[in-house]
Amino acid sequence: MILVFEEGVDAACVRAAEQTVRRAGADPRPLCAEGGRVAIDAPGLTRDRIGDVQGLLCMLEDAPPYRCVARRSPDEATRVVHVRGAPIGGPRVVLIAGPCAVEHEAQLEESARAAAVAGASLLRGGAFKPRTSPYSFQGLGREGLRLLRAAADRHGLAVVTEVLEPGAIAEVAEHADMLQVGSRNMQNTALLRALGRQSRPVLLKRGMSATLEEWLLAAEYIADAGNEEIVLCERGVRTFDPASRNLLDLAAVPLLRARTSLPIAVDPSHGVGVRAAIASMALAAVAAGADAVMIECHPEPGTARSDGFQALDPAELEVLGGRMRAVASAVGRS
Ligand code: PEP
Ligand code: MN
Repeated sequence: MILVFEEGVDAACVRAAEQTVRRAGADPRPLCAEGGRVAIDAPGLTRDRIGDVQGLLCMLEDAPPYRCVARRSPDEATRVVHVRGAPIGGPRVVLIAGPCAVEHEAQLEESARAAAVAGASLLRGGAFKPRTSPYSFQGLGREGLRLLRAAADRHGLAVVTEVLEPGAIAEVAEHADMLQVGSRNMQNTALLRALGRQSRPVLLKRGMSATLEEWLLAAEYIADAGNEEIVLCERGVRTFDPASRNLLDLAAVPLLRARTSLPIAVDPSHGVGVRAAIASMALAAVAAGADAVMIECHPEPGTARSDGFQALDPAELEVLGGRMRAVASAVGRS
């Protein structure tokens, strides 16, 4: 925050203001302002932590370090990112659904059908999986991309799938409408820059221990390289409690909304990782203002090759889709 004083302000007023800034926990530094005007830099200080200051002309907010993706004013509208005709960031809350990983044709066909029946616009599914262990199922690769595209086309859905490295972007973009950056790659700057140099929209998941600022700066890498078609996706952060896989940070939705004009998605599947809690958190995400919600589903969760413990079955997904629409209409969305 920069405090700018009225012309000819009394030195006592300035000293009093410096005291106020110190009491609010910031370190005031005098600035040379144009035309002899006095100003004080108070880095990190926010308007709500400072009361009345005598002789003040105005307060200027600190410029955020992310320039392209920042919300420029409180009334700036959220940007709309179009994914093959599905607008994310408009009045309609978009459902993204599908399995954790593409496994085989029948599994994907059932998943795509379930997604469409539940009201989804996008089919998700990993063809290239970023697994924690090198011995876990790594996805079907190229064949998985082909299966995703075919199943999505049969059900009128767009495709979002993860891309792990810059060299794979062209191949994934050939089959997918939106490219996902996973939590483990949020700060892979070579990947972010490369995604900025192509035109497919990007779903940027939050790193598992990333602050909102680090996440927005990751988005800035993509935007600065030329692609502003970005949707942020909250997917839970690491904490101390093993009761849930991650801690879904729903407060991130309004906190991001104030900082960026990018649309915001929420993934309660990875965010909680406990099947019984996922539907409630999906509804809470809609109530919190999410522009899209991503849900993992599987025709037979018990047989899934990855993340079956957090997958909804088709019937559960359909019920959730209906309840999400009810919550969306209660908060003025559809
Ligand atoms: C995913 O959505 O497929 C995934 C691997 O999630 P995350 O990157 O959030 O762990
Ligand atoms: Mn998964």
